[in-house]
Amino acid sequence: MLSATETEQLRTRLTSELQRLATNAHTALDFTMDRDRDRIGRDSMDESAEEEMYSTKLRLADRETGLIAKIQDALRRLETGDINECEECSEKIGFKRLMARPMTTLCFECKSAREQVESDDSSDA
Ligand SMILES: [Zn+2]
Repeated sequence: MLSATETEQLRTRLTSELQRLATNAHTALDFTMDRDRDRIGRDSMDESAEEEMYSTKLRLADRETGLIAKIQDALRRLETGDINECEECSEKIGFKRLMARPMTTLCFECKSAREQVESDDSSDA
């Protein structure tokens, strides 16, 4: 169980992260709207480059939506008091680690073990 001060620090950390992502999501939306507007009367510069940029942006927005869900999940676990418990081995996750990676559900050892496995799957890169 984290101390009240630690809980508060972590909550602030997560909330500000959530805020930052919400702002980014908004930017992605603006971009989509700009793109539609720009279509009219624009000479076709590099269509494929633009397309590429657009899909990258969408992919990022997708990832951000996933991150937002993770942060909300972390906030829930913060309230129930088990945010610092590793979901794999039930060991305590250090506060320092939580501040560095507030959305983590694994202790350092389990995370390292899992990353070894995940590095085989590069589809997310
Ligand atoms: Zn663990």
